[in-house]
Amino acid sequence: MTTKRFDAVVIGGGPGGYVAAIRLAQLGKKTALVDREALGGVCLNWGCIPSKALIAAANLVEDLRGAAERGITGEVRVDLDRLRAFKNEVVKKLVGGVGLLEKGNGVEVLKGTARFLGPSSLEVEGPEKLVLEAPAFVLATGARPVEIRGFEFDGRDVWSAKEAVDLPEVPRRLLVIGGGVIGLELGTVYAKLGSKLTVVEALPDLLTGSDPEAVRVVKKGLRQRGVTVHLSAAARKLERTGGELVVHVEVEGKAELIPCDKVLVAVGFRPNHEQLGLEQAGVKVGPKGFVEVNERLQTSTPSIYCIGDLAGPPLLAHKASKEGEIAAEVIAGRKSVRDWVAMPAAIFTDPEVAGVGLSEAEARAQGYDPVVGKFAFSALGRALAIGHTEGFAKVVMDRSSKLLLGATFVGPEASDLVAEAALALEMGAYVEDVALTVHAHPTLPEAFMEACKAALGEAIHALNRPERTRKGASNDAAAPA
Ligand code: NAD
Repeated sequence: MTTKRFDAVVIGGGPGGYVAAIRLAQLGKKTALVDREALGGVCLNWGCIPSKALIAAANLVEDLRGAAERGITGEVRVDLDRLRAFKNEVVKKLVGGVGLLEKGNGVEVLKGTARFLGPSSLEVEGPEKLVLEAPAFVLATGARPVEIRGFEFDGRDVWSAKEAVDLPEVPRRLLVIGGGVIGLELGTVYAKLGSKLTVVEALPDLLTGSDPEAVRVVKKGLRQRGVTVHLSAAARKLERTGGELVVHVEVEGKAELIPCDKVLVAVGFRPNHEQLGLEQAGVKVGPKGFVEVNERLQTSTPSIYCIGDLAGPPLLAHKASKEGEIAAEVIAGRKSVRDWVAMPAAIFTDPEVAGVGLSEAEARAQGYDPVVGKFAFSALGRALAIGHTEGFAKVVMDRSSKLLLGATFVGPEASDLVAEAALALEMGAYVEDVALTVHAHPTLPEAFMEACKAALGEAIHALNRPERTRKGASNDAAAPA
């Protein structure tokens, strides 16, 4: 068995681990990156990236099919094999790019399964058996889809996100268990490609944790696409009868049988903490399987760091990458800590939902007296011009200081619009700073500027309504009907 010595070893090559390895190498550390699968993790291989390639294609299909109003007609056909090949090509390019970046920065990429032998040594079981010794390790093994009893993933009838993103076929009827991010993102792709979609969600609403007003806009979009949504509904049993699947669902105590052709289970992710030998390394795991870390991302064994999904929510690729940079800098002796103000989140439903900072309720819970400013996309020139007028931009402002506390976007390109709000929050902007900033016309970010103006009672392209109540006041700048 060969023993190799490094300054730092990163375990897991997803958006957390691959970034940590690059940053460590940039900072002069002799670094190894270990993964048993392709670099890029869930995000690049079967998560964020391929799903967004499919979402963009499905949006295009729907846009073209609904473009008669704009004088665009004709039959639109989808070649699934071509679409799958396009998506695979996107993944291949990005995964290849990560490999080149690691190599270019001098990171040694090692294929295999890692397991701690102690706090400063690791065994890698791969094409050759290795022992890696280092004074610092970064755990970045991510998370995987949760399975539910009776609906175990079989890659044929019951899909996880991984199989759904593979686009094996477009089933006539798709039933999605879990009305969260993945269920709605991928469910909508299939609905747009022709599946009759049913969503079964255990909680009383979809996308729990997102702004309820934004969720209402998403629900309207689902309704318009003929999607059936069962809320407060638990999937109990899967029956296979004569070539079709029947899902037994309990809705408010009553049993309902829903026939379908495929089931996608998207009920959350669980951290990959098993089989890493964390006990041997003295790394403490919390009750939900997430590794406990301090603000410098050190675990209970200070020379072992943990980042990304394994270090706990939110389970977002960009949070993992940020933590990867922080851990690398701490290891290199810099004074980095997990001290971000803004952690944006974007959901690629139709329309998209994105948010950053505090919601109105969170602001109130933290002792602020929030004022809300809103601007509807239906009043925005650019939104009308691109034919996507659903949704709004909304900001939360502290009444006395006029500081920007948070923003929510639901509507066209919400995932891009949230970036400006994140920058504003990170820089401690006042709502006036955004309101006074000239925004190019005609563009979608004007909605953020107008929402900020609305919070101040100064919207230009909407009527400023007087505040109805002091508590929970909303300057809902409504476009003239
Ligand atoms: P999720 O937590 O977003 O949603 C899971 C949903 O399933 C919840 O609403 C939950 O109430 C429901 N559920 C749980 N058990 C159920 C049952 N037995 N029957 C019916 N419903 C049930 O999880 P996800 O969609 O699987 O995504 C996994 C993780 O990945 C999440 O943390 C998510 O934020 C993250 N993710 C983020 C993005 C993004 O940022 N765009 C995209 C994909 C995934």
